[in-house]
Amino acid sequence: MIEYRNLKVALLGAGSVGSQVARLLLEQADELAARSGASLELIGIAVRDVDGKRDVDLPRELYTTDAEALIVSADIVIELMGGIEPAKSYILQAINAGADVVTANKALLATHGPELFQAADQVGAQLNYEAAVAAAIPIIRPLRDSLAGDRINRILGIVNGSTNYMLDRMDRFGDTMEDAATIASELGYLEADPTLDVEGYDAAQKATILASLAFHTTVPVEAVHREGITTVTKAQVDSARAEGYVIKLLAIAERIVDAETGIEGLSARVYPALISREHPLAAVHGGNNAVFVEAENAGSLMFYGAGAGGKETASAVLGDVVSAARRHVAGGPGVGESTHADLPVLDIGKVSTRYQVTLEVDDQPGVLAAIAGVLSEGGVSVETVQQSIASSVASSDGTKSTATLVIGTHRALESSLAATVEQLAANDHVEAVVSVLRVEGAE
Ligand code: NAP
Repeated sequence: MIEYRNLKVALLGAGSVGSQVARLLLEQADELAARSGASLELIGIAVRDVDGKRDVDLPRELYTTDAEALIVSADIVIELMGGIEPAKSYILQAINAGADVVTANKALLATHGPELFQAADQVGAQLNYEAAVAAAIPIIRPLRDSLAGDRINRILGIVNGSTNYMLDRMDRFGDTMEDAATIASELGYLEADPTLDVEGYDAAQKATILASLAFHTTVPVEAVHREGITTVTKAQVDSARAEGYVIKLLAIAERIVDAETGIEGLSARVYPALISREHPLAAVHGGNNAVFVEAENAGSLMFYGAGAGGKETASAVLGDVVSAARRHVAGGPGVGESTHADLPVLDIGKVSTRYQVTLEVDDQPGVLAAIAGVLSEGGVSVETVQQSIASSVASSDGTKSTATLVIGTHRALESSLAATVEQLAANDHVEAVVSVLRVEGAE
């Protein structure tokens, strides 16, 4: 029988994820010891209410409300409480007491990550957070370790399961946004306050983490351009389907060059965008997540799987625990965050992508040429135009015929496109700018 070194593990939180982590630590103790080279002793679980109802039956004596007492005795602290405070203070306390920390807390990392990483660096502790982005899907370690020898150019992520579930329902079952939201709430995909998900805040937190790792730069969450899905209509989803696209809420981290200054920087942004149905991300259905990484030498890589769930998230947390335990056994400092590139985060106006602009225009000869003129003056070059059957609208001098134009553009600067759309909206031939969507995932 192998005698393993004993490592004391403190768990903060026994909710959906924490209770599964505790269960697995107890049930798989032997295997985890063999894999990490240390026996992982769960010394206690901090909760708010020791008599609270739990998903998993665990020995009652493990529960405590005294998180600090656990932290000071632990070699590894697993923070699964969520929120900013007291999670942040507990993590700092753990690091300063010489423990390694594992957390799944994206909200905390997105807002206070640099402070926590710096604290860990100072004492050589390890801060692991695989579950903070896309839960069960290994993406943090692939970016931090496996791809550390490559140069990442772009990441496109479907990192919010709730909004993917809703958009997928609209695409595959023809739901309206309201119907999709109702079903998502009933199935527990949406919180009582869905703002974090549907307005893109959760995805922006994950974009911050992904962009920081991919581009070796500290990217503040405030620098992430964010648009949610609440403005996406059934008409847009239907039209996207007809054109061979699907609408997905994407978290994008991209290496870009400022066209004016020639300076290399990065863009981090979240918005609903059109993706070709041929793109691997188009096949990400339901509440699943996926992260599509484009690296200079590795080429395109797709990481796909469950983006939430107690057991699924616990898998990633335990991987982090084993990795921290191995470091304890081997000795030496933890792997710090790499921020050496320090690239500027460029404004959304500097981003160049393709667009699909849908206009309702007067159905008269010469209108198409006039619209093309406005686009070309604005520096937006047209790739495709589709005109639908004319319809009639009421006007001050009776009725007039209108047609719908769906214009696909070549790559254009976001700032040029925005200015051009303003010009189009003011043009006498244009009844309405029906929709403007970016097209992502293409050259
Ligand atoms: P949860 O179900 O709300 O559980 C939170 C737990 O933390 C509860 O046991 C609660 O105790 C405890 N807690 C909260 N505040 C505390 C405090 N001040 N002192 C002591 N204990 C406290 O949360 P969760 O869904 O497991 O999520 C945990 C973390 O994982 C979050 O950061 C979340 O963003 C992240 N995450 C979750 C998922 C997922 O699918 N759920 C996926 C990826 C990442 P009581 O039970 O006594 O109230």
